[in-house]
Amino acid sequence: MPKFRRIGVLTSGGDAPGMNAAVRAVTRYGLANGVEVVGIYEGYKGLIEGNVKVFAGNDVANIIHQGGTVLYSARCPEFATEEGMQKAIRNCEKYKIDGLVTIGGDGTFRGATDISSHGIPTIGIPGTIDNDITATDESIGYDTAMNTSVKMIDNLRDTCESHARCDVIEVMGRNSGYIALNVGIAVGATAACVVEVPFSEEEIIEKMRQSRANGKRNFLVVVSEGLVGYAEGLTKRIEEQTGIESRFARLAHVVRGGNPTLADRVLASTMGIKAVDLLLEGKSDLVVCKRRGHICTSEINYALTLDKLFKSRYAGYKKVDEEKLLSGLSDEEKQKMFDFCQNKLNEMRYLYQICDTLSK
Ligand code: ADP
Repeated sequence: MPKFRRIGVLTSGGDAPGMNAAVRAVTRYGLANGVEVVGIYEGYKGLIEGNVKVFAGNDVANIIHQGGTVLYSARCPEFATEEGMQKAIRNCEKYKIDGLVTIGGDGTFRGATDISSHGIPTIGIPGTIDNDITATDESIGYDTAMNTSVKMIDNLRDTCESHARCDVIEVMGRNSGYIALNVGIAVGATAACVVEVPFSEEEIIEKMRQSRANGKRNFLVVVSEGLVGYAEGLTKRIEEQTGIESRFARLAHVVRGGNPTLADRVLASTMGIKAVDLLLEGKSDLVVCKRRGHICTSEINYALTLDKLFKSRYAGYKKVDEEKLLSGLSDEEKQKMFDFCQNKLNEMRYLYQICDTLSK
């Protein structure tokens, strides 16, 4: 069992509300277990440049409720090069960092698996509002981003009702339709349009015509940002084909900041603890996940492969050669992956159906 002197914690890639709660959990739990904790600023860039600080418990005080990340984030292409990696490894030696916790999205995990293979045990925590890490049901920041989206769309609805209008709202989520589907249900949208679930624009427009004839004044249509550019065109077509005055709104980064919700703070705290426990148990190259309400883990490469498979099959993103992607896996392992992805898709279809059925 490796003896840890110090572990490092960093946030990388897109920021997400709740990342601070995770940094706090890693720090406090590490210290409680007799391990020093080093905060690494600006993600992998800070590791390469030696931008680090040894944390006392107080250094993470008063951050659990703050959005963004107090450790800052930065994109660092250099980290993906062998030269950059060697600098990072040298700094781990210099600052006596024996293990790392990296909080971020799939890019962050690619970096994490690279550094694991260079002898620094590393555990990933999913921190992204997009909830696009297939291996976990929830990522840190997702709940907050959804709640913020709902709050803003509720505001739009007031005006839609007053003026008998339609608003078509593009929500965040990158290549994942999860935010759109859940937000669509929660705001009572006429439809939640996402890449993963086929939908009929004709049916949506017909539904609006009928509802208008029945006296409905306000209409909301939620569109996932994965359907690049679709929402603006849809807004025009709704107005042309129904006569309902329609506006387009893009929520964008305004939902990426703000105070994390209770759910995100709790998720971040439990995942932070799990990540430290895994390091102390001598584990590496894992991502902490939550599935069916339980904290669990997935090998990082397994999680990245699942992502590629799901996004290629169902999210219209980077078609992969499945045979090549899954080479080396047994038929049973492959089937397990296919089933996992199919279950995710079924869940998304179900959410789409709920939104559709309840808005008729
Ligand atoms: P996210 O983690 O939110 O997906 P990025 O894709 O920007 O965000 O990745 C964050 C950082 O992770 C990058 O700036 C880079 O330092 C590192 N990274 C991304 N891809 C790789 C890779 N293939 N190999 C090593 N490091 C990577």
